[in-house]
Amino acid sequence: MIVGHVGIAFGARALDRREADARAPLLWLVAASVAPDLLDGAYALGGYCNPAGVFSHSIPAAAILAALWGLAAFVHTRSATTALLVAGLVMLHLPPDYVTGRKSLWPGGPVVGLYIYRWGWLDFIVEAPLIVAGWWMLRRARFTPSWAVSGLSLAALIAVQLSFYVATLANGLRALFVCTR
Ligand SMILES: [Zn+2]
Repeated sequence: MIVGHVGIAFGARALDRREADARAPLLWLVAASVAPDLLDGAYALGGYCNPAGVFSHSIPAAAILAALWGLAAFVHTRSATTALLVAGLVMLHLPPDYVTGRKSLWPGGPVVGLYIYRWGWLDFIVEAPLIVAGWWMLRRARFTPSWAVSGLSLAALIAVQLSFYVATLANGLRALFVCTR
């Protein structure tokens, strides 16, 4: 899943009904919801192979990431609730990825997922409503700064999703998801 994760983070922030200054920073929630993908990016930059996301998207890898992210959020915000929310969002990254992709459950374990990335249009149909719903919930919650919930922000997120679709049309999926060495 690509921008659908951001939609989930937006929705989680909209549901945070604590006192205004006690609510979880949106940036933390977005960072948590895409944490395994950020790690994927780091592996790709470093040239490390990460077959079926075993070092970023398997249950043990996500659990370690959730603990680290939750701890860092706690150190930053001094809020145990925010830390739990951040850790929970890291774990919540996995279920939608089983719909869009195929992920290793644990090292040496089965690789599962529907892998609808095969059909870019279907992936778009699944992810676009998630981002629209999250954006709409956050907008209704009168989130500030308001640029985060502006029409431009939504258009930019949809554009990212569309560009993924176009990239897969142009290059196919293998180039994006197969270790090259
Ligand atoms: Zn992912």
